[in-house]
Amino acid sequence: MSPTLAELTEAELLRRLARFAPPNQLSDDTAALAADARPLLINTDVLVDGVHFSDATTSALDVGWRAVAANLSDLAASGAVAIDGITVALVAPGCTSWDWVDGVYQGISAALDQYGGVLLGGDCSKGEQRLLSITALGRLGPLRLHRNAARPGDVLVTSGPHGLSRLGLALLQDDPSLRDIALDPSLHNKAIARHLHPTPRFDEVQQLLACKPDHLPWRAGGTDSSDGLLSAVAGLCSSSGCGALLQRDQLPVAEGWPEGPAWTDWCLSGGEDFELVLSLPEAWADIWQKCIPESQRIGRINAEAGVIRWAHNHERVEAGGFDHFSQP
Ligand SMILES: [Mg+2]
Repeated sequence: MSPTLAELTEAELLRRLARFAPPNQLSDDTAALAADARPLLINTDVLVDGVHFSDATTSALDVGWRAVAANLSDLAASGAVAIDGITVALVAPGCTSWDWVDGVYQGISAALDQYGGVLLGGDCSKGEQRLLSITALGRLGPLRLHRNAARPGDVLVTSGPHGLSRLGLALLQDDPSLRDIALDPSLHNKAIARHLHPTPRFDEVQQLLACKPDHLPWRAGGTDSSDGLLSAVAGLCSSSGCGALLQRDQLPVAEGWPEGPAWTDWCLSGGEDFELVLSLPEAWADIWQKCIPESQRIGRINAEAGVIRWAHNHERVEAGGFDHFSQP
């Protein structure tokens, strides 16, 4: 039987957590990073029990993986090309089992093994609700992707389909409104995998760096779609003082994605997709798309500040207003 955190002494807890870091990494209260000419990128994300994860849908291992992947996705979407590591702050009630904490740190380690970087440090505290705060540190490559770097005339492209994570969550929650919908089995499995095991898009950023046409400057708008596709496009538009036209018939959906307003809404605003959403000069976008099979061109940036419209009828794009699957 796994001990609870209340049964472990703090020293024993730290001794156990130190196994997930390089030798002696956690024996001091600070971590030193080797000097590097490249700028340091830093990002912090907080995950709260009941808000960002739940025992009903997410194993401890997946909580750890998702926490790291969400942080690293922000670094990738800023142009990071290497990861130094992360710090982890853990808050949990004393009744939390060591097995759960062990699983979370195993998930953290698995993600770091996959994408680079080590556990640099952190802190633990007793608290009423489980909470995980991760700060990730990485190194910037030659291109700093900014939300404010979109320009009228750019094309909007994304690295992959959207809505899968939201569908995966609904499936894990056994959402009753999905029970009568015949989903393609491969879509079903892909949605759950994308929800539990998101992928920070470092490879796609490397492709973007490698394929820049020589005549173009190092300028591209970019963010990830952690808060949903439409939110990502809106962020690019408002930061850049631009607008966008979206192609209704080119929404980035997975193969077998059903049709209907609720499904379109999940594509636009389901959230937690962790894909790149980029605003690129057309020539750069064309070459990048040839390297990224799941990429999709979704529209174009224009000068109508802060307004996102459908290209086919020029109506404003609205999302988030559907009561999912309750409509006939
Ligand atoms: Mg993000």
